[in-house]
Amino acid sequence: MDIKEGNLQAPDRQPLDWKTPDFCDQESLYNELERVFDVCHTCRRCVSLCDSFPTLFDLIDDSETFEVDGVNKNDYMKVVDQCFLCDLCAETKCPYLPPHEWGIDFPHLMLRAKAYKFSKGQTKWMDRLITSTDKVFRAISTAGIRHIANRASTISIARKALQKTIGIHAEAPLPNFKRKKFNKDSNKYTETRPCDKTTGKVAVFVTCYGEHNEPSIIEDLVAVFRYNGIEVAIIEDSKCCGMPKLELGDLNKVEKQKDSNLPVFSDFVNRGYDIVAPIPSCVLMFKQELPLMFPEDKEIQKIKNAFFDPFEYLVSRHKAGLIKTDFKEPLGTVAYHSACHQRVQNIGAKTKEFISLIPDTEVTSIDRCSGHDGTYALKAETYDKAMKIARPVVNQIKKANADTFGSDCPMAGRMIAHGEGTDNAEHPISMVRRAYGI
Ligand code: SF4
Ligand code: SF4
Repeated sequence: MDIKEGNLQAPDRQPLDWKTPDFCDQESLYNELERVFDVCHTCRRCVSLCDSFPTLFDLIDDSETFEVDGVNKNDYMKVVDQCFLCDLCAETKCPYLPPHEWGIDFPHLMLRAKAYKFSKGQTKWMDRLITSTDKVFRAISTAGIRHIANRASTISIARKALQKTIGIHAEAPLPNFKRKKFNKDSNKYTETRPCDKTTGKVAVFVTCYGEHNEPSIIEDLVAVFRYNGIEVAIIEDSKCCGMPKLELGDLNKVEKQKDSNLPVFSDFVNRGYDIVAPIPSCVLMFKQELPLMFPEDKEIQKIKNAFFDPFEYLVSRHKAGLIKTDFKEPLGTVAYHSACHQRVQNIGAKTKEFISLIPDTEVTSIDRCSGHDGTYALKAETYDKAMKIARPVVNQIKKANADTFGSDCPMAGRMIAHGEGTDNAEHPISMVRRAYGI
């Protein structure tokens, strides 16, 4: 075991042993929480990342001993409840991840505690409902209901009723529903041009959000890729990536969703397609979370190797001279928020790199949490905290006074726009389409 701190290596996340009996054993879990909380107490590097760490440090500082042993174990879950599994503490701060002998992976420990809570039936029905994106989104998207839902989301009295019954904060930024079924037919090029790790053939995982809320992002992605000579097909019959259920700790459901998606995705990869998705969290599921949950599953590893962030894909092909740079419209000043679940993919600032190719375009990058974080910004009990987390980002966007702003994560973009009191943000792929004039 290595005991070095402060190196420049990418973090080494270890597989999640979630099928062992020990994983949800109460005594074992609480012992591990105590051990890790003690290390965090002496370190405190992550205090600014989310509310989990301030909650922990307040519990310690308010205790009689000023140490973890003075904290009531019944309060440990208060720390867990503030974690939205952004992974930033592990990927950007923690020097004690394996191979360090202390072997700390804070997000995985939070996930284990969430899975424990779920296994004991300690999860609220409302949380189970709003993380059932496949069912809920399909129901709301039904013609007739969609219109009523969109209208109700703007009426104060309806929102107050929603807060009382389902626990969605009356001011939380809700997405609009405008479902679109995409044409599955791919465009065919007589010759596809592989380069580096990309095949030049892409299957788009439209995601729940892309299908039900902002299909225009999918259309923009398809247009930009096809303009650059990439064959594009749409993946039909996919299910939710599983991220909402992962954040709830419902790991058996994550496995079911994985089992539904695997044959569909595998079929595309076997036919030479790479896969992209416009939402960083959905990409991260296939690039990191599922491979760590199912390290022995060769199909998952195969899909992981074929999965790309859209801008990672475009930059890789630009380096090989396969991307058009005949941009027609400069974007001026762009305030760009890099989403946490994209940052932790360890691919570098690819969106900023690509947008910076557009002439007369100056990009200011903002690398802080937007506060949306899955359902964290929607829930009545955490909405105010989410707004507090969002404030520095909103202030930086205001200060930048940019011509346009946006985030790779459309939910983060909506949260920032909500904080700013403006219209929706623009997804970077939509900015690129606009710059191409296509
Ligand atoms: S994973 Fe994110 S939300 Fe959870 S404790 Fe770490 S920084 Fe906070
Ligand atoms: S997760 Fe790691 S870096 Fe963050 S406070 Fe704990 S020990 Fe320190």
